[in-house]
Amino acid sequence: LPTRAATAVRHLSDDIAYVLFPEQQIHARVQQLGRQLAHDYADRAPLVLGVLTGAFQVCGDLVRSMDPCPRGTTVNFVRASSYGSGTESSGKVAIKMDMDSKLIKGRHVVLVEDIVDTGMTLTRLKAHLTENCEAASVAIVALLDKRERRKVELEADYVGFQCPNEFVVGYGLDFDEEYRTLPYIGVLKPECYAHKL
Ligand code: 5GP
Ligand code: MG
Ligand code: MG
Repeated sequence: LPTRAATAVRHLSDDIAYVLFPEQQIHARVQQLGRQLAHDYADRAPLVLGVLTGAFQVCGDLVRSMDPCPRGTTVNFVRASSYGSGTESSGKVAIKMDMDSKLIKGRHVVLVEDIVDTGMTLTRLKAHLTENCEAASVAIVALLDKRERRKVELEADYVGFQCPNEFVVGYGLDFDEEYRTLPYIGVLKPECYAHKL
């Protein structure tokens, strides 16, 4: 086999200062949440609506864990962006949906988010789904909850873990679109974002 200089290549994992939630812990918790949802929505044919891009990982694992899966369960995605490329929310939330909003009318929506921070994204989304799209109900699943950062009153109905007040990446969560692919959630080394802020 060809040998490579050990120092030549840097990987995403080299930028992680420490791991907050290891892969196994995430999977165990998401599995519990999936089973809970399957039970709570057994006769409500839920529409599981993942919030892109951050929730793509948790949404996939969550629906796989909905066992036994209720009849009529469907999956779709909305796109919400509130962050620029920095680590502070801009406060403005843009919503894009590629499904016909008529298909939401009368449905029991389970919104799946990677993390609730200020709460503004989910407040906007929930209002949009309830008022404009006339969903029958909207429940929120948040893998992570950074409660001390809240600027508006918003409670997730299902929370994976409480998250310390740190900027976290991995398992869907990005910094400047990178790190989403990591299977665990961790905190970046300060030198990895300082130059981009
Ligand atoms: P909120 O509107 O609640 O302030 O922000 C929610 C969105 O901000 C999340 O869906 C996520 O995209 C982003 N966000 C908030 N905190 C973090 C964090 O610690 N790490 C990353 N990567 N994104 C975050
Ligand atoms: Mg998000
Ligand atoms: Mg982001």
